[in-house]
Amino acid sequence: MSLSIATGLRAIRQTSVAFGRRGYAAAAGANTLLLVEHKDGAITGATLNALTAAKAMGGNITALVAGEAPEAVAKAIAEFEGVSKVLTASDASYEKNVAEDLAALLVAVQEKNAFSHIFAGHTAVGKNVIPRAAALLDVAPISDIIKVESEDTFVRPIFAGNAIATVKSSDALKFVTVRATAFESAVSGGGAAAVETVAESPKVGVTQWAGEEIQKSDRPELASAKRVISGGRGMKSGENFELLYKLADKIGAAVGASRAAVDAGFVDNSLQVGQTGKIVAPELYVAVGISGAIQHLAGMKDSKTIVAINKDADAPIFQVADYGLVEDLFKAVPELTEKL
Ligand SMILES: Cc1cc2nc3c(=O)[nH]c(=O)nc-3n(C[C@H](O)[C@H](O)[C@H](O)COP(=O)(O)OP(=O)(O)OC[C@H]3O[C@@H](n4cnc5c(N)ncnc54)[C@H](O)[C@@H]3O)c2cc1C
Repeated sequence: MSLSIATGLRAIRQTSVAFGRRGYAAAAGANTLLLVEHKDGAITGATLNALTAAKAMGGNITALVAGEAPEAVAKAIAEFEGVSKVLTASDASYEKNVAEDLAALLVAVQEKNAFSHIFAGHTAVGKNVIPRAAALLDVAPISDIIKVESEDTFVRPIFAGNAIATVKSSDALKFVTVRATAFESAVSGGGAAAVETVAESPKVGVTQWAGEEIQKSDRPELASAKRVISGGRGMKSGENFELLYKLADKIGAAVGASRAAVDAGFVDNSLQVGQTGKIVAPELYVAVGISGAIQHLAGMKDSKTIVAINKDADAPIFQVADYGLVEDLFKAVPELTEKL
């Protein structure tokens, strides 16, 4: 008897919590559009981090998949828990992320659906499209968020990550780009959203995608790798990066670089880590021949463990390193590779 009363009370309490949540989502909750970035038929990692950020606000999430043949990606994103609807728009220029056309599409979709938020990853695509769409709708975008405080308040780094700003937006529509490394990746499963085709596909047509040159690599992708080994000006030449590739291959790491190494032509600029390059936060970051300039730290200081190899004991990189080795890299790196 007492057991059944207790069970009954628990049931009532759970029901009221569930009602409360649902009521909140329907009445005051966010109604978010997520721009789904995809490449070669796969949803990009940054989109799945942005989905987690959007879910942190509660409410409904609609995913927008624009591309030449968006159906397969639409089906994939529909399977994520938290996605309540998927919209597709088909055009070749969307496939190549032509910003003018994608921004016009976002505006058309927004005018029809009146979302409260539009989220995207803080990637080259998100950074290109979101501010354009926000300007067309006369609202101020909020870029590179690292935390969701509430539906109108977000946290973002400023001054190359040396200060953290909490910003509250009073715009009715909030455009937000999400720093991938600050949010867990959403995991597929638990969702079964309906997929609808968007009627409008306005084309601005002022820009045509001409072609691309992609740096091919069998190593893990820099922005999402669990381990990263980066080289700086201290590597002296592109050929010497071979030392880092050998070490990286032994531990399954991606290879990155400082801007000085990129500017000197040692490696391609897709490897640049920092304020004007990629932001990474792997479990292990090894900085080799990198001084630790503020603009470089902006891209890697959230890494879990930082190791520095530098022959200058006063190099600023040692201030953020968990483990530091003051040594000539041309001696230390081959030794380390040998021992692993
Ligand atoms: C607006 C702006 C944006 C920027 N964005 C970025 C960015 O995104 N990413 C970035 O990295 N930089 C960026 N920079 C550049 C940044 O200020 C630094 O110039 C750059 O990071 C320096 O690269 P580095 O550490 O490889 O070179 P250096 O500062 O020259 O350091 C080389 C290091 O190698 C060590 N070394 C040399 N030989 C050896 C050896 N044999 N063994 C061991 N150690 C050795 C030296 O002791 C030194 O500490 C930006 C700058 C500006 C102004």
